[in-house]
Amino acid sequence: NPLTRIPRYASTSGQQTVLVVLYEGSMLILYCLIILKRSSVFSKGGDAGKRNKNILGCVENALGLPKWIKENNLENRLKLVVTSDKQGENSVVEKTLPEASVVISQPFWPCYLDNKRIDKAKNLKLAITAGVGSDHVNLEAACKRGITVAEVSGSNVVSVAEHVVMQMLALVRNFIPAYKQVINGEWDIAQIADKARDLENKHIGTVAAGRIGLRVLQRLKPFNVHLHYYDKFRLDKSIEKDLNVKYHSNVESLVKECDIVTINCPLHPETEHMFNKKMISLMKKGSYLVNTARGKIIDRDALVDAIKSNHLEGYAGDVWYPQPASKDHPWRSMPRHAMTPHYSGTTLDAQARYAAGVKEILENWLNGRPQREEYLIVDKGRVVSNAYTEGDATKGHSGNK
Ligand code: NAD
Repeated sequence: NPLTRIPRYASTSGQQTVLVVLYEGSMLILYCLIILKRSSVFSKGGDAGKRNKNILGCVENALGLPKWIKENNLENRLKLVVTSDKQGENSVVEKTLPEASVVISQPFWPCYLDNKRIDKAKNLKLAITAGVGSDHVNLEAACKRGITVAEVSGSNVVSVAEHVVMQMLALVRNFIPAYKQVINGEWDIAQIADKARDLENKHIGTVAAGRIGLRVLQRLKPFNVHLHYYDKFRLDKSIEKDLNVKYHSNVESLVKECDIVTINCPLHPETEHMFNKKMISLMKKGSYLVNTARGKIIDRDALVDAIKSNHLEGYAGDVWYPQPASKDHPWRSMPRHAMTPHYSGTTLDAQARYAAGVKEILENWLNGRPQREEYLIVDKGRVVSNAYTEGDATKGHSGNK
């Protein structure tokens, strides 16, 4: 077995190429320009990544790695290739993959490491997610090749949980149309009130109660709502009691009871298109769906149909497939949504945490030290994270929307 020949925690020698794939600082400004095009602050242009050194997750600031390499005299051991250029045969990613020992990428601007790319990346030993969620890596291929897949678990879970609650409120209180009225110089209260409700007394359920799902439940408790969850693993009895949360042993049972459903599980073959036409049809008529987990957990077109036919009252989230989403992605233009580009887990606070985590993982790898257990998704040819079901999770993804 070739895997047994891979030394477990051998320290590295010689100079290693680290390919870092991030979004551009200017890309962020582009979004700001679209959203806030009347703001003179932004319309003067400038470059957010250059102006704000705390946007660590962009190409300009490269997770603070250049400074860290210099401070630790690692110039002879690490050669950094930092880019956002990931599409097409001539992209920097494609050209650098054959020599890269490490690929660092982010869910917000994922470097999809599919079978073909992993094949091409002959020297790849470590794939790091600067954030949480490693579905952009084909885990089966990583297992076969003995590539370690690690992420900075926990780094942005508060950031996402806050975003979930914000988007729930945006939908239920009908915030987006109300905000648009202000921008457009209108004042039509009845038009907004027609679809504005309170969270109080609603039944709200999370699909998965891991780090994010649990934090969503905790944040919702003071709203005096009825809480529900489904997960492969049950929470401690004391937590269930404290939150007064009802456990469902399957998703179907949860969606039938809830006015608002939030998705907080990882994307793997068991969860891909979990919310297909059939599952969405089981949701209560007039209910809301919030998904900050991964775009592919939902069947793209089934969702559009459910919104257009008024079966669902509204949809919000920040995850798409593929990313960045195309200009004509149907979720952009469907009615009654409160979507954002994928940024919930990349607040300035989160960036500081995951940038530190990436350095910790790199340092351990360079020195042959074990990684923190909770950071590991694939190790020594096996899926080791509970979040990604071993066996099924290694099959890779099939759908293209
Ligand atoms: P976690 O590992 O703490 O929790 C995941 C939970 O999902 C676990 O409790 C696990 O048992 C459960 N689960 C896995 N497969 C399941 C299945 N088939 N059915 C039911 N439950 C299942 O992870 P987390 O930190 O809570 O993050 C969850 C996901 O959220 C990530 O994998 C990622 O896709 C997404 N995420 C998004 C952002 C963002 O910026 N939008 C940021 C962080 C994470």
